[in-house]
Amino acid sequence: MRSVIVIGGGISGLAAAWQLRGRADVTVLESLAKVGGKLRTGTIAGIAVDEGAESLMALRPEAVELAAAVGLGDALCDPAKAPTTVWTNGALRPLPAGHVMGVPTDPAALAGTGLLSPEGVARVAAEEKLPASPLTEDCSVADYLAARFGREAVARLIEPLLGGVYAGRADRLSLRAAMPRIAALAEAGTPLLPALRRMRAAGAPRSAAVAVQGVVGGTGRFPQAVAEACGARILTGTTARSLQRITGDRWRVQAMTDDGPLTMEADGVLLALPAFAAAELLRSHSPMAEYELSAIPHASTAVITMAFSRARAHFLPEGNGFLVPPVDGHTLKAASFLSNKWSWLDSSAPDTFVLRASVGRIGEEELLGRPDRHLVRSAIAELHHAVGPMGEPLAARVTRWDRGLPQYGVGHRDRVARIREAAAKLPGLALCGAAYEGVGVAACVATGRNAAKQILAAA
Ligand SMILES: Cc1cc2nc3c(=O)[nH]c(=O)nc-3n(C[C@H](O)[C@H](O)[C@H](O)COP(=O)(O)OP(=O)(O)OC[C@H]3O[C@@H](n4cnc5c(N)ncnc54)[C@H](O)[C@@H]3O)c2cc1C
Repeated sequence: MRSVIVIGGGISGLAAAWQLRGRADVTVLESLAKVGGKLRTGTIAGIAVDEGAESLMALRPEAVELAAAVGLGDALCDPAKAPTTVWTNGALRPLPAGHVMGVPTDPAALAGTGLLSPEGVARVAAEEKLPASPLTEDCSVADYLAARFGREAVARLIEPLLGGVYAGRADRLSLRAAMPRIAALAEAGTPLLPALRRMRAAGAPRSAAVAVQGVVGGTGRFPQAVAEACGARILTGTTARSLQRITGDRWRVQAMTDDGPLTMEADGVLLALPAFAAAELLRSHSPMAEYELSAIPHASTAVITMAFSRARAHFLPEGNGFLVPPVDGHTLKAASFLSNKWSWLDSSAPDTFVLRASVGRIGEEELLGRPDRHLVRSAIAELHHAVGPMGEPLAARVTRWDRGLPQYGVGHRDRVARIREAAAKLPGLALCGAAYEGVGVAACVATGRNAAKQILAAA
């Protein structure tokens, strides 16, 4: 049986290990003490809460299918039904249903929400009359959508969604890579409003922000379950430091563990790592791959989780939370009212109200340089303005995700094609992870499984 070393025990690497089960002898190397990467469940005031991803995008099937396959089918749960809400122009304002990453399908439904000025709404409605020539080259989300819907719509409808999903900004993110469904319409040279309306009438599109599922007990259970079910040898506390190609597709991995250095060899190696970590390992094997991987920017973010006593809080908000556009000058980029959103959490801790706020988009490094207590104070202050005076939390914790989200800049797809071309020249090596074809958990599962298939096909 072939041996494969998977470097990186996040959901991408574990999905790869799952795909290889029974077909290869697999070892997963993970730097941290636990597998899971950005799927991590911790506790606050004794209550289980997600510190990284809190949901699995269910627009595409890969994550929920894998969760069911590893025994978590009964634990998958829907969030409470509530509109996506944006904190802008001084109030929480619901985004009309049917939007695609903030792109509206029904301008009339925008009127009266206060999201846009009357001129802004009229500009959105005018989109269907604008000539549309087929998009031939990638461009930024802002360049394309401001030309179609106006700058105000980009600032107050699109930016909050991009901040929430990518910690990114419309003027830097690629239309093709960050909004592929909109890009496909743009490439067809069709006005967006009528096309989206037709898709909606046919049952699509659903918005990524609402088509999600959670895991009872926290999404951190998901990687643990995959790790147990895949049958791989999992070495935590083990950081891969270098790779050497021995002969053909055989590789040697040198790693550092708590007990000292470790050297292993295998017939294949799969890098399930953030782009910058994969770049380091590939430096002496492919300058092209190293260069292109290093050029992918990453946004750092922080999640501020707070627990309030229901009995002592002055006020508790309704709804599932809100998104925030940068244009209003707030530090928060999103807030999620976990106790309202996830019924399993509410029933496990009925006396406590738990929420999480997040800060940090690309370019906001100065904000993240502030100490934890400042981030907590400013989150409390802004929540007070956004929803009402809750008072002081019983407990608060800040989880920092340094370089946690890759940014798909203009030309990202071409960059990924160059990376994959360079990696293809290294027999027995495959790449997967959030840096390539989607940052969501489902996309990561798909890249992991595809990378595993690639290793098996090359054997
Ligand atoms: C705050 C936050 C919230 C998010 N929310 C959602 C959400 O609600 N829904 C959603 O679908 N997506 C969400 N995402 C995105 C999604 O969680 C991630 O893109 C995805 O989990 C990444 O998985 P991965 O396996 O590719 O990478 P990672 O999770 O980063 O895993 C890589 C692993 O490699 C390990 N590693 C690194 N270097 C080495 C080395 N040299 N040797 C050994 N191991 C190494 C790391 O410790 C890590 O465990 C969120 C992301 C963040 C940061």
